Amino acid sequence: MPNETTYDAIVVGAGPAGARTAAVLAQRGLHVAIVERNPEPGYPTHCTGIVSAECFKHYELPESLIIQPIQSFVLRSPSGRGATVQRKAIQAYVLDRPAMDRLFVERAMSAGAELITSTNVADITWTGTGIEAQADRAGTSFTISAHAAVIATGFGGKLPRKAGLDAPGDLLSGCQVVVEATGVDELEVMTGQAYGEGGFGWLVPWKPGLALTGLMTRRGTMNYLRDQVARLQAEGRIGTVREAYRCRAIPIGASSHTVANGVVGVGDAIGLVKPTSGGGIYFGLLSADLAAPILADAIWAGDLSASRLAAYEIEWRNLLDAEIKLGKALRALIEQLPDSLVEQMHRLLGVPGLKRLLVREAPSFDWHSGPLISFLAKLQQKTDEATPGVG
Ligand SMILES: Cc1cc2nc3c(=O)[nH]c(=O)nc-3n(C[C@H](O)[C@H](O)[C@H](O)COP(=O)(O)OP(=O)(O)OC[C@H]3O[C@@H](n4cnc5c(N)ncnc54)[C@H](O)[C@@H]3O)c2cc1C
Repeated sequence: MPNETTYDAIVVGAGPAGARTAAVLAQRGLHVAIVERNPEPGYPTHCTGIVSAECFKHYELPESLIIQPIQSFVLRSPSGRGATVQRKAIQAYVLDRPAMDRLFVERAMSAGAELITSTNVADITWTGTGIEAQADRAGTSFTISAHAAVIATGFGGKLPRKAGLDAPGDLLSGCQVVVEATGVDELEVMTGQAYGEGGFGWLVPWKPGLALTGLMTRRGTMNYLRDQVARLQAEGRIGTVREAYRCRAIPIGASSHTVANGVVGVGDAIGLVKPTSGGGIYFGLLSADLAAPILADAIWAGDLSASRLAAYEIEWRNLLDAEIKLGKALRALIEQLPDSLVEQMHRLLGVPGLKRLLVREAPSFDWHSGPLISFLAKLQQKTDEATPGVG
């Protein structure tokens, strides 16, 4: 049980966004506690652990975290036709997600942050000069006081609203299992109505003799995933399921209020996720890097008003808002596409000029808005050339 100390800041949630925020705050000389409801950071995990090569480099992640580099992937059409998309350089990595979470927490602790595990924060209130967090550990309630709180609780739960933020209104659900598999050596992305409304499935090479297969869609995720597992088993691609199904909600679109008096939100808790793929690790880490210096300066200045902390909201919006809005619009478009059209679009990958264009000029793994617009214009031109007289 933590003592009566008033912390400079408490960070609720020991995921990547929370741990990174805590590390930067502690590096700035602040007395920080990370409060995590699970007994161990990183567990249980629901996540595939794919991050871009850019994210891997930016956060100086060690090679020991890499399970698989990703330089190519197989895109499957609704009928099951596969097309391999190969890039010149490694685009992303499948990482050991629990080990990555532990690494970010260890970095925060080396910088001086304290980790309080098995402790749920049920409420946060602003006292006028700081915050009070109502916490619970093994049935015992207690209060943790601090100058400020960081909400890094991932998506869902009531805490962001209780703390004065709001939650993204729209969501997807993702579900994944670990399966036995020997012949899976490339990431596969599967498309079509069989994966639910606007959904897609994946099969990812993982640890020796194992693969991850999962699915992300609007609703009925677990049922679609069961069908997907049965299909892959019937095709002889995978063996038995090794671990329980894990499902989690994924926000589509960012919150509109991400700061309050004494409080900032980071990561999934405020919807900083790519709405197309559901990937949120990198955006969460970037939000931590924007939030922590502004929060630290506000603590040193003794001014934790929402109006001062609003500088953080301006910064994350400058960096991420266009990406998230474009991703949301793309998702809305994809959700309208019938299988027949997706199948036709997939066939365009058989046209050599178009495939080269896709490989050479497709948007980067993380940043789509600028490159995507010029890419779509070129794609339109190539498609017109490949299909004269159509339309
Ligand atoms: C099936 C699936 C696959 C995914 N695959 C990828 C992927 O490959 N790449 C990618 O970038 N993203 C992926 N994501 C998304 C990714 O998991 C999230 O974007 C990322 O984990 C968000 O990080 P975070 O630190 O904001 O929150 P989280 O990682 O969710 O961490 C929040 C932490 O807060 C703790 N917590 C919550 N409430 C409280 C409370 N009240 N008190 C105390 N502790 C609390 C939780 O226990 C948790 O440890 C996937 C998501 C799903 C569902």
